[in-house]
Amino acid sequence: MSPEFEMALHKKYPKILGYINEEGNYKTRLWGGFQCGDGWHQLIDTLCASIQARAEATGMEVQTNQVKEKFGALRFYIQGGDDHISGMIDLAEELSSRTCEICGKPGQKKNVQGWLITRCHVHTPR
Ligand SMILES: [Zn+2]
Repeated sequence: MSPEFEMALHKKYPKILGYINEEGNYKTRLWGGFQCGDGWHQLIDTLCASIQARAEATGMEVQTNQVKEKFGALRFYIQGGDDHISGMIDLAEELSSRTCEICGKPGQKKNVQGWLITRCHVHTPR
């Protein structure tokens, strides 16, 4: 994902994307950043907003460990959380498999030379 999108997400959702270390610096446990295309940015933004709101409402600790594309769908791995949050993640992962990973428009999962990817018709490789 583009660095400016990643930075914006960390600014908006510091409670679930990072923590403050002993020196008072913001650190993240997110392994390798957001490993997916910009088309899923809005979806991830909405998911993070929902998870952070739930974490704040319940006082629960939630830390995001990994966010990536796998088999054409979003995978969002966290530490902590509850069934409510697991349900939000399930929905976001399902929505990602219907959303072009490049542009965010409606898309379909496709098998392109053995790889499963989710793309709109414009961004489907020929
Ligand atoms: Zn597209």
